[in-house]
Amino acid sequence: MRRLIAALLAAFLLSILSLQATAAPQVVYRYASGGGKRLVALTFDDGPHPKYTPQILDILAEYGVKATFFMVGSNADYHPELVSRVLAEGHEIGNHTYHHYHTANMQTDELLSDILACSEALSRHTGSKPTLFRPPEGVFNEEIKALCGKEGYTIVMWSVDTRDWAHTPISAIVSGVRANVKDGAIILMHDFIGKNSPTPAALRQIIPMLQESGYELVTVSRLLAE
Ligand SMILES: [Zn+2]
Repeated sequence: MRRLIAALLAAFLLSILSLQATAAPQVVYRYASGGGKRLVALTFDDGPHPKYTPQILDILAEYGVKATFFMVGSNADYHPELVSRVLAEGHEIGNHTYHHYHTANMQTDELLSDILACSEALSRHTGSKPTLFRPPEGVFNEEIKALCGKEGYTIVMWSVDTRDWAHTPISAIVSGVRANVKDGAIILMHDFIGKNSPTPAALRQIIPMLQESGYELVTVSRLLAE
């Protein structure tokens, strides 16, 4: 009888462990809870970029705010000194795949290995594995969710899309943020834009505007911890 109980107990514990191993990842679609603390997360995708990432870092430092950079692994390999700078200045780094392929043309297998390749590259440069993943173009499926669950990633989408990558005029970027921001917002911007990026100039208006409205700008992990 005791043996039977022990065996049942072992089977029960194993089932719990295997459930945990395949647990669905947390997916943050829109507004994370800011806990009423008026917290907002600025996020920058696709970098590091040799010109725009340093400009953005200078502005963040000037206003004393922290942000999250979803890096492309190949760009991190081209500019490891910028990965180090982002980290040294207290910002957070997330996974945005190694090559940033156009997801519509891709097999899921290729995308899964591209996520893992980015994990490896960022781990090499930072000394630890990232825990946040932003899918290129915001596209993911059940297999990608399963991989993220297994790898311990939270999938981070966004609530305010500035469309800075499309060279949206600075005034439209700023008014779009003003109209859509609220407690717990995650704002999508880019530090890698081919040329004539509107992002640094827009940031110079967005950050003081948000601070004057009583918002604190924090990393995504800080936002999710509330
Ligand atoms: Zn991207």
